[in-house]
Amino acid sequence: MYSKSEMLFGKAKQVIPGGVNSPVRAFKSVGGTPIFMERAKGAYMYDVDGNTYIDYINSWGPMILGHAYEPVVKAIQEYATYSTSFGAPTELEIKIAELIVSMVPNIDMVRMVNSGTEACMTALRLARGYTGRNKFIKFEGCYHGHADAFLVSAGSGVATLGIQSVPGVTATVAEDTLTAPYNNLPAVEQLVAEQGAEIAAIIIEPVAGNMGCILPQPGFLEGLRKICDANNILLIFDEVMTGFRLARGGAQELLGIKADLVTFGKIIGAGMPVGAVAGPKAIMENLAPAGKVYQAGTLSGNPIAMIAGYTLLQTLNNNPVIYQQLEEKASYLVNGLKEAFGAAGIVHSINHIGSMLSAHFTEYPIVDFSAASAANNELFKRFFHAMLERGVYLPPSAFESWFMCNALTTEDLDKTIAAAKSAMQAIK
Ligand SMILES: *Cc1c(COP(=O)(O)O)cnc(C)c1O
Repeated sequence: MYSKSEMLFGKAKQVIPGGVNSPVRAFKSVGGTPIFMERAKGAYMYDVDGNTYIDYINSWGPMILGHAYEPVVKAIQEYATYSTSFGAPTELEIKIAELIVSMVPNIDMVRMVNSGTEACMTALRLARGYTGRNKFIKFEGCYHGHADAFLVSAGSGVATLGIQSVPGVTATVAEDTLTAPYNNLPAVEQLVAEQGAEIAAIIIEPVAGNMGCILPQPGFLEGLRKICDANNILLIFDEVMTGFRLARGGAQELLGIKADLVTFGKIIGAGMPVGAVAGPKAIMENLAPAGKVYQAGTLSGNPIAMIAGYTLLQTLNNNPVIYQQLEEKASYLVNGLKEAFGAAGIVHSINHIGSMLSAHFTEYPIVDFSAASAANNELFKRFFHAMLERGVYLPPSAFESWFMCNALTTEDLDKTIAAAKSAMQAIK
């Protein structure tokens, strides 16, 4: 007997490469069949076979207040009747830009795009256009979307699938991408000492979320800021994950570090396809049509996407207590998980900040991609499936952060912890 998910996956593979429209969804690294979903509400997802899951992916971040958040659903329904796209400016685009500028430190202007990939691609082009330099530094295991230049030592699905170099990305493009290990300031100093005059930007996830959740060590981001200032290099914070999640103003606010350009995605569209690049006027006005750095989008600033994002961002802006609640829930869960793993005698290292976390099965601290890769990821696979059987939906890869939503109740967290205890006893 096959489940409905298994039957659908069989069909999907006939008409969609690998059966999915984004690689990590395929469960390839953990094995088994992806679960096809039917609907979701709050912290829960419901699959096509009638199973219920507590969701710790939350669409990879956007659903910070839970699925089908009522005010967002209502706003989308109302705006859909006005037309799903105009291809002309709307007042709503000013309102969301003003709101974002009021929430995020160090920015005057925002350009809306349709994904985090586009946001990072645009930020890099802008940094290159502004500085007149071609090279940039990224960190091993960080993911900045799937634009060619970033698919070098990339995290997320590239790391999950163990792809070393991506066919289709030409050597000429990859040559301009310099890489350093996360949290390794001397490696960056060396690259800048050798090639600083050619480096346009350093792009980083200020808290990494695409190799599991990895925190910047004290002094690391401050050190990058200093290097950038001393060498006229732009510091780009890729806040596609951390933006509006770690704080209203994202990692810049929480960690107190100023970036020159910031990219957003995920929460900014409340589950609709949205990304953005933001920064000070002096840099942003180099974008077309104000400047010559070209960037465009037929559906950019789409009214349905804008009202969804605007509604969610307004709620977050007006209720800062949400961040405190999320932090408390995450700490509660982390303590419970530590207890569950400890009781089973499993060595573990859990990274956690705000509502992002990841569990690695190793006795060593996880500070960079090689540490994350060296953990017992075989055990993670078994843990993932044991949790799924117990109704807990975790990211299907040790190289992804878990995302919590504020719809989670203490009861949900207790259920999750109990599932982790029983899962570990079953698989150890
Ligand atoms: C998800 C993600 C991206 C890419 O965003 P898409 O909307 O998937 O294109 C870029 N950077 C980071 C840090 C991300 O987590």
